[in-house]
Amino acid sequence: MLDILIKNGKIYNGLGGKPYKKNIGIKDDRIEIITSNEPPAHKLIDAIDLAISPGFIDMHSHTDFSINDNPKAESKVMQGITTEVVGMCGFSAAPVNEKYFDDLMDYFTNTIALSKEDKLRWRWKNLYEFYEEIEKKGISVNLAPLLGYGTLRIACSGFSHIPNALLPEQQKKILYQIEKEMEAGIWGISSALEYPPCSYCDVEEIANACKIVKRFNGIYSTHMRNENGRKVFTSLKEAIKVAQISGVNLEIAHLKVAGKEGWGKAPEILNRIHQERKRGIEINADQYPYTAWGSGILDFLPKEMVYKGINYWRNYLLKKENRKGIIRFIKNNLDGPEKGMGWEEIIIANTKIKNNEVIVGKSIHELSIIRKIEPEELIIDLLIEKEGYVKLIVFCMKEEDIKTILKDSLVMIGSDGRAVSPYGKFSNVHFHPRYYGTFPRILGKYVREEKVISLPEAIRKMTYMPATKIGLRDRGQITEGAFADIVIFNPQTVIDNATFENSHRFSSGIREVLVNGKLVVEGGKLTSSLPGKFLRRK
Ligand SMILES: [Zn+2]
Repeated sequence: MLDILIKNGKIYNGLGGKPYKKNIGIKDDRIEIITSNEPPAHKLIDAIDLAISPGFIDMHSHTDFSINDNPKAESKVMQGITTEVVGMCGFSAAPVNEKYFDDLMDYFTNTIALSKEDKLRWRWKNLYEFYEEIEKKGISVNLAPLLGYGTLRIACSGFSHIPNALLPEQQKKILYQIEKEMEAGIWGISSALEYPPCSYCDVEEIANACKIVKRFNGIYSTHMRNENGRKVFTSLKEAIKVAQISGVNLEIAHLKVAGKEGWGKAPEILNRIHQERKRGIEINADQYPYTAWGSGILDFLPKEMVYKGINYWRNYLLKKENRKGIIRFIKNNLDGPEKGMGWEEIIIANTKIKNNEVIVGKSIHELSIIRKIEPEELIIDLLIEKEGYVKLIVFCMKEEDIKTILKDSLVMIGSDGRAVSPYGKFSNVHFHPRYYGTFPRILGKYVREEKVISLPEAIRKMTYMPATKIGLRDRGQITEGAFADIVIFNPQTVIDNATFENSHRFSSGIREVLVNGKLVVEGGKLTSSLPGKFLRRK
């Protein structure tokens, strides 16, 4: 007898074709049968008037930095996400080298503030070990991890001191470690060339790493060196060069046109990507559907200063005579988070010091008026007060570019967010709404309301396409024998509810979510089951 029979729904199989009506029978963790009959089952799910899709695959996730505290991945499964590709933007939880532990914690500062307890347990020797432990504890979603090149580089050569090339033995160590992790089942590597230590890397260093990845048919996801204005073209060229040299399967992370100078340039960028496709480069991109991006306040400082670690830059800023120079730098730096948008467009999202509420949600402009100082002065004060951890939300993109990118056949969907929940450890933290809303927003706003793309095409971008890109077998499609990762939703009502003012809101319209044949969302409510797996590349 079947475990579950889903009947009366419209099946979107993930490949982009027209939907059809049939019943889906599930046994254990697989789709056993797709049929017009009604074979007996222990549980019946009536999906009349609803869409049935393969579970969504979040192509760009940072859940590896919250899964220890949110194993139920609430903000993700409530979007219909069943698999997350993690270890993005050069960040992964491991490997950790005791010798450079403080350097690693420095590296994480601009992204996530780790508590004392976090730091105590943050000792995983390699990535494989980290995911085995997570899986054993139980998780609701499947995780397909990449190795963050920044984390790896720190484990092999440290962080704070020298923005220079690696020593030969350090280079060897890095390549050896990539090989070991790939053998253990990791799916590829990621970089964020905008931030140290990845920003120290030249094309040759990354290409050498990618040659190993290529041997295992893994992917290389890159947060490019500069996404601002026209500089995005130079960055894209660099990413393509790496793929040309190494032959690696390339993924451009959170593709966007940021800053007014670049607005309207999306067609030109996509054109370039398609040209490279025609030349044989395996290149794709992912996107989140919002006009604001997330940044950290450290991005205002000169990079070489950040390289030297918190003790260095904090002491530097504390000296009165240094302030003028930094203020001038912030004013003239077009590559800073402000991107020529104006201080009203930068909202403070989170800081690690208590009494957040006084400043969280305010723009830099507003707060500078309240404190009666110039915005640049305020930035310096906040850097010192909050020890470098202030997350910012910056409105810097144009809606039209977002739609153009979404329409492109080579673009997938990624939240660029962690799994969090409205209760527990992260509940007081103000996040970018993409953590809760990315996938339903595509289905509600961009498919149903604005008709930018069709529903089958949107689903393909969320399922079969990412599964094929990273090489996940038997996932991302509804077919007999595939894993029963399934989402049942109402195409007439599905929508995101999280906003920039109130990010901790679940989406509407997602009714059932199954991971490996088990319900993690039922009747629109979370169940407590933890059927997720650490997916190993085979
Ligand atoms: Zn990134």
